[in-house]
Formats: sequence, C-alpha cells, structure tokens
Amino acid sequence: MEWNDTALVLQTGQFREADLWVRLFSQSRGVFTAFAFGGSRSRRRFCGCLDVFNVLSCRCKTTAYGKYVNLEEAVLLRAPQRLRTDWLRMGLAVNCARFAEALGIGSDSAAGAYAVFIDLLRLLEEPAPLPVLLPLFFRLRMASEIGFAPALHQCAACGKAVQGAALFLVNEGLVRCEECGGGSSPYAVPLPAAGLALLQAVQQQSPTVWGRYALSLPIAERRACARAIDGFVQYHLGIAWEEGRFRKV
Ligand SMILES: [Zn+2]
Repeated sequence: MEWNDTALVLQTGQFREADLWVRLFSQSRGVFTAFAFGGSRSRRRFCGCLDVFNVLSCRCKTTAYGKYVNLEEAVLLRAPQRLRTDWLRMGLAVNCARFAEALGIGSDSAAGAYAVFIDLLRLLEEPAPLPVLLPLFFRLRMASEIGFAPALHQCAACGKAVQGAALFLVNEGLVRCEECGGGSSPYAVPLPAAGLALLQAVQQQSPTVWGRYALSLPIAERRACARAIDGFVQYHLGIAWEEGRFRKV
C-alpha cells in the first residue's frame, strides 16, 4: 500500500552505511518508524531534508508483508530556525518528542496530537521566554488530547466548580474541593488555587499561548503541579521520566 502524508520528523538514525530509519509523526497515522533507503545519500529522493523537526510532505509505502514502512520520497515543507541555534529549546523539543514516542500515538488521535506538537514548535520559534514547566504542560496537554484528560473543574464529591485550592487524586484523575477533602488517599496531591487554575488553563489551550505563564508561579506551586502531572502520567499512561529518558512502567 502506498500513501501520501504530511509528517514531522521526530528522530532519525543510521542503520546501514547509506540508510536511515526515521521516526515520523503524521497527521493521519500518528507516530511510526519508516526506513529511508539511501537516506544518507539520496538528495534526489529526500532533498537532504530528513533533519529533526522538519515538516515533510512524504510518500510512504508498506512493504509486501505489511510489516515495515518505507519512506519513498520526501519534500521539505517547513524547517525550524530558532531550534537549530538554541540548544535549550532544542532540548525541550526533544524531550516532548520522546514523550510522544513513548505514548505511541495511533491513527485515532493522530490529528489532534499532531496539531498540539506543531503548536509547541511554533511556541519554541517565538522569541518570548518560556514557562519552566513547559515539558509538563506538554505531557498534560498531550494526555488530554489522546483521551486521558483529568477532570480538573468540578469536585468529584460535591459536584461544585472548584475555584480555590483542591486535592488532585492521581489514581482517579480528578479533583476534590478542600471542604470535601481527599480522605486518607495516598494518591492525593494538594494543589494551591493558582496551580489548579494553571493546569485547568493549560489542559485546554494551544501551546502557542503558553508563553504567558513564563513568569508566574512560586516554587511550591510549581512543585505541586509537577507532582500532579507526573503522577497522573505515570499512573494512567504508564510512562515515567527516569535518568534522562521516558520509560514504560
Ligand atoms: Zn467538594
């Protein structure tokens, strides 16, 4: 089978002298690996455009047994500028790419998840400062996009809209207001009002507007948000960040 797609390059690697594997994130198929035979050399077929975070128009072909995908041809649509010279931003983008790969995004949620990643790259191209919690924002937003959205707006016990501080129950992926409390749940993470408001906003927004959170949030609230998101992602998606890489747990 052969098809055309728009896809973002998440990672590449060499596997023989002239050949590459390319991890692609496509609008229609999510994250998958394709082989680019002659990828290290063939400027005609790949126009030298298989660099990480380039957006490509590509022609793919499933091999005879349907087991592998070959990248037959690629044309460059867009390439990042700032990322190529700013290693801090490149590191953030790579961290988010590894998370998307660990999630294993399939065709069901491909379109929405792809749009989130493209918006993240747009934000990274802007000169404005970035929020410290950017990688965590991305994990929360991406989890929500593929159907694991924590319920952050209503108290799960009394049903009231939660506005002040709250308890986030990592295992249930929901919040309880302060009056209702979390009982003795070992999974309860106390979230200050500002922290909860931030997570509520981030969960629904495009990454392009996250620059507005670059300055806010004292350290205690930052830690609470990080605990809540990390705990949620680990519990529900089985992914933990350990020793510089994502691991399935
Ligand atoms: Zn309540």
